[in-house]
Amino acid sequence: MSFVDLQSARKKKENKSFVGAKSSNAETKPGNQDQSYFGSDGSSSSQQLSDAITAQLPAGLEVRADEYTGRGVHTKSHVQAGSVLISCRPRINIISTQHLDVYCSYCCERPQSNGVLKRCTRCRQVWYCNAACQNNDWSIHKSECAALQRWKSHAPSEHVSVPGDAVRCLGRIVWTMQKEGQDSSWVKEFNSMQSHRTSLPPSAVDSHAHLAHALVQYLGVSSPIELAPFGLSSAADLVDLISRFTTNTFTLTTSSLGPIGICVSPVMALVNHSCDPNAVMVFPHSSDSTVPRPNMQLIAIRDIKPNEQIFGSYVDVTLPKEIRQRELQETYNFRCKCSLCVRRDIWIDPRESVRCPKSCGGICPAPIDDDDLCRCDKCGAVVPATDSIVDARRVGQEAVDKATLVQDQDPAKAKQLTSNMIPILISTGLTPSSHPLLPLYRIHLELLVSTLGSQLNQETLDEAIRTSAKYNAGLSNVLTKGHPVRGVALSELGKLLAVDEPSPASPDSNPPPAAAFPPSGPARLRLAHETLVRALEELSIGFGKCNNGGELGQEVRRMILRLESEMKVWTQGVRNVMADTRAAAS
Ligand SMILES: [Zn+2]
Ligand SMILES: [Zn+2]
Ligand SMILES: [Zn+2]
Ligand SMILES: [Zn+2]
Repeated sequence: MSFVDLQSARKKKENKSFVGAKSSNAETKPGNQDQSYFGSDGSSSSQQLSDAITAQLPAGLEVRADEYTGRGVHTKSHVQAGSVLISCRPRINIISTQHLDVYCSYCCERPQSNGVLKRCTRCRQVWYCNAACQNNDWSIHKSECAALQRWKSHAPSEHVSVPGDAVRCLGRIVWTMQKEGQDSSWVKEFNSMQSHRTSLPPSAVDSHAHLAHALVQYLGVSSPIELAPFGLSSAADLVDLISRFTTNTFTLTTSSLGPIGICVSPVMALVNHSCDPNAVMVFPHSSDSTVPRPNMQLIAIRDIKPNEQIFGSYVDVTLPKEIRQRELQETYNFRCKCSLCVRRDIWIDPRESVRCPKSCGGICPAPIDDDDLCRCDKCGAVVPATDSIVDARRVGQEAVDKATLVQDQDPAKAKQLTSNMIPILISTGLTPSSHPLLPLYRIHLELLVSTLGSQLNQETLDEAIRTSAKYNAGLSNVLTKGHPVRGVALSELGKLLAVDEPSPASPDSNPPPAAAFPPSGPARLRLAHETLVRALEELSIGFGKCNNGGELGQEVRRMILRLESEMKVWTQGVRNVMADTRAAAS
């Protein structure tokens, strides 16, 4: 398998995972947690508003109140892992500025093989597959097109000639309201989503004000009265709009979880959050071409019993509790009381654990304070030098933040940070699933893979494989089997192992290839095959059984078949040589 295959797959993924690095848009995850989903006053009008959304739920699901989480979506019958719970087209979606010329602004697909997207000739900012997609989008893009042209003509420089993703998404929300009218189901659906206007955390006030200002400018209005046609008759309405948008927006992703835009779906936003979710929201890109694109699906990643509540996750659940709680509080304004956050039994969270200092195979909780007494769960040995572990984790977190920030502009600098920090954290005994070692592995892997694109050499390829193996080991301790992040990471490891080795180890090298990781030659191919088979198993859950693991699952299936024929050729080759040798000997 050539590196080109890997690269083209890689390009589709972009460089950030679904729940990995925080998206550049602070406001890209859903949220409606707590009792006030239908309006904190519980009035009959807000109850009535909800009907527009609940009518969209499939027959097997219903909205029910629960004493801990308020209203949420429950199943009526037993659901198997890998089943599609909800499948819909988002009501509003936009492509991120940097991807506008890569993905169609209507269906969010890439152009078909060898095809190119066509640009709107008026605004010259958005791109479509073809005239059909452009026509379908025109009823909304008409207003957007004029606004984009106006914005560009006032932009001080080229790189701000398109407004930010949040502003463009808000624009589409209000133009749709204007077009469909204040009595439309869209306005009812949107307004029944939760707003935090009356309890806005101080940290959100500035960003909300900034967004409001940019939106008003984008809409081209010069006085508050001109906002009335959009259903915004007061400043409070504007803050409600932005608050609903901020807490109910999802990341639009590729079939391998690469973020490419943002979208709004009130029906998906009905699903509450848990740090230990039983469902995920993905865009599988199944081969069924009759499904309207983009197609977002809520998929069960565990078997769910009748009457159980369905939970997705609004934040990266590989993060430790403190960080998750902070993010949920800041963006979604609630304190998580999920099973993982309130766990009180003697349990060591793999997100914050160190290896036993006596190497007995047990693990110890990672110290939070300098003088914490942390013991191994197996032999009871006490972790020494807790202060150095606390320090290393703090510096490690700084390295993650910095590397994330400079990753795109200055990859060399980012790689220097990850290369220096990873061995330090390993030396403190931190396990691969622990924060911040896990995100450092992910960033380091992304950097190595992008280097491979320009210069493929054995050393970097092997290092990428080792890093990917560690990253996968870490993920498998914190995410449920079948979680799409696991499936995507495992298929990446399989793809890396399947890349043709630029300079394979010779059979009599030292150490012998059989003992080294990654192995070389046929052993490597076998490992690639085994890894891809495991990846497909996980993808078939996380991206839906009926979707065959989605577009990525189908790609992995093709790779498995190709590897099988490569391995057969190799085995046949050996047989031929042996037959020749025997013939020569006789
Ligand atoms: Zn299209
Ligand atoms: Zn246009
Ligand atoms: Zn939680
Ligand atoms: Zn021990």
